[in-house]
Amino acid sequence: LASDFATLPQLIAAHAAERGGKTAVADETRTLTYAQLDARMSRVAAALQRDGIGTGTPIAVVAAPSVDYAAVSLGTLRAGCVATPLSPSATPGAIAAMIADSAAPLVFLDAVNATTLADEPLTARAIRLDTPAFEEWLAPEGARPSEPDIHPEDAFNIIYSSGTTGTPKGIVQSHAMRWQHLSRNAAAGFADAVTMIATPLYSNTTLVSFLPTLGWGGTVVLMGKFDARRYLELAQAHRATHTMLVPVQYQRIMALPDFDGFDLSSFRFKTSTSAPFSAALKADVVARWPGLLVEYYGMTEGGASCGLNATAHPDKLHTVGQPMPGHEIRLIDEDGNEVPPGEMGEVVGRSPAMMNGYHGREGATRDAEWYDAEGRRYIRHGDVGRFDKDGFLILMDRKKDLIISGGFNIYPSDLEAVLRQHPAVADAAVIGVPSEAWGETPVGIVVLREEVPLDAVLAWTNDRLGRTQRLAALHATDELPRSAIGKVLKRELRDALAEGTL
Ligand code: ATP
Ligand code: MG
Repeated sequence: LASDFATLPQLIAAHAAERGGKTAVADETRTLTYAQLDARMSRVAAALQRDGIGTGTPIAVVAAPSVDYAAVSLGTLRAGCVATPLSPSATPGAIAAMIADSAAPLVFLDAVNATTLADEPLTARAIRLDTPAFEEWLAPEGARPSEPDIHPEDAFNIIYSSGTTGTPKGIVQSHAMRWQHLSRNAAAGFADAVTMIATPLYSNTTLVSFLPTLGWGGTVVLMGKFDARRYLELAQAHRATHTMLVPVQYQRIMALPDFDGFDLSSFRFKTSTSAPFSAALKADVVARWPGLLVEYYGMTEGGASCGLNATAHPDKLHTVGQPMPGHEIRLIDEDGNEVPPGEMGEVVGRSPAMMNGYHGREGATRDAEWYDAEGRRYIRHGDVGRFDKDGFLILMDRKKDLIISGGFNIYPSDLEAVLRQHPAVADAAVIGVPSEAWGETPVGIVVLREEVPLDAVLAWTNDRLGRTQRLAALHATDELPRSAIGKVLKRELRDALAEGTL
């Protein structure tokens, strides 16, 4: 990888020229070598140019991960258009709204999503992947699109925020931002990586390992749908070296009774991001799964990222690590002033990898920004945390999830940690509910491993909490509601509790 800026399609063309026969992307049924991927990207780009679709135009995809998905989105970039991968797990109405919001003239769908969206009026022309219509739309074999003039600050992709806390917003990331992601992985050995991907391709969580693998010339193995045992079978068969998994996937994999029977000795670099990863689970992964474990904390908007090498820092597993080189994090209070060292505050971050802004939402972009005394731009993360004495960030909760009860700040994550220590509790979430006496009061929701009286668990927990922290009530449920990327949806828990459906 040269130190000068190059676009991802240019890097892929270079790999195709140097080692065209190497596998670039495999899914469960097909494989594309670098030469094949490169040729297919050119056919996509030339077709976009033939259709008169100009540079800077968003092109949407709604599909499960597959080799064609990869070729279409990378081909979009080769034409200088903006990759716009959308979540198939959103409702049909929400998908149609994101397509309209992005103003994409074209949307690529797989069979499942074409069926789901069949009755939905779409503002974009839909083309089905894996059909003769798609093959006909592609420019002929050997097509050579003209090379667009791309500048680092130009849009690379629009990623819709996961909508964990509200309506998804289109986050515009630039080629420069993606270049940062490629460069910062210089030490991770992606050039000869076999990277297992088991999360959806519309999520930044996935792209931060998918794109560097291809940028450095490694091999990506895509799973269309995650299954813990199938994941291990595939990883073993492909001699996987790298992976990105979200915490709930690590949890399901480590819980398999025959986990230790799989040969995972090929693994060198495992990563995780996107949701709280408990110290106990990190320790278990470090102990029983070969290769480094690195946790990242960051967000699609960029701001700044932290990294924790869990293998090297067994005493820091309760943290998300330290800011990455060139990334700065500050903690601010309600009035936007920095908090004293060691105190809790809202995370604001600044780095060379920050979003251009939210697509078509100047107001929301301004609300997401914070400026220091020198007028330098930071992005508000919406998370609350504090630094320990060694500069490791202890992340508490999302700001929107904090509970203010009788004038005291209650951090749900403190209460969740105590609940999880109860032997019968497999999983726990704490949310604030309106209270006449206190404004808000904390209520717990647990997933139980075994039948036990809830009031006994409630009493056990409240015995271990401070007087101002105590839970007003405890409910049990079969599973906590999670997004497709494994984030607990507290918004849904609040609604369920209000409607009495929990
Ligand atoms: P929305 O902004 O639409 O509500 P989202 O914030 O979940 O969705 P992302 O950008 O995918 O969208 O996620 C970033 C958030 O994920 C962070 O702000 C943080 O709350 C959480 N997160 C990311 N990494 C970690 C981590 N390592 N540990 C705990 N939480 C994390
Ligand atoms: Mg967010």
